[in-house]
Amino acid sequence: MLSPDHSWRDRAACRGMGPDLFFPERGELTDEAKAVCQGCPVSHACFIFAVQSGEHHGIWGGKSERQRRDVRSQTVIQQNPILHGTEQGYTAHWRRNIPACDDCRWAHADYVRRGKYRRINMGVGR
Ligand code: SF4
Ligand SMILES: [Zn+2]
Repeated sequence: MLSPDHSWRDRAACRGMGPDLFFPERGELTDEAKAVCQGCPVSHACFIFAVQSGEHHGIWGGKSERQRRDVRSQTVIQQNPILHGTEQGYTAHWRRNIPACDDCRWAHADYVRRGKYRRINMGVGR
C-alpha cells in the first residue's frame, strides 16, 4: 500500500519553528502563525492534509480549527444535496438552517395532510 505523500513538509515555512506558535492555547492570538503560513509555499497541501486527517487542533495552512470545521461541513452539504420536494428535503432545510423552498413546503403540507387522513381513518384522535 502506498503511504501518503508528506514530502511537502520538507518545504514548510514553519520547519524548525517549534509547535507553540501553531498550537496556541484557547484565546491566544493566531496572527503570527497565520502570517508565517501566508508566505509558505506548501500551505495548500498543509491545509488539505489537516482537513483530511481530521486535525482538530492548531493552525494548518493558515486556517484555524473553526475554518476547517466549516470546510468539512460545507463538503458534507455538497456531497448530500437536499432532495427538494420531499418530506426528507423539508427536514434537511431546517437541520441546515435554510428556510424551506416552496417545493419542500408543499411536500411537507402533503405529508401532514396524509398523516391526518390516516389517523382519522384509523379512528385515532377522535
Ligand atoms: S502552511 Fe503554515 S503550518 Fe502549514 S506547513 Fe506552511 S507554515 Fe507550516
Ligand atoms: Zn427544498
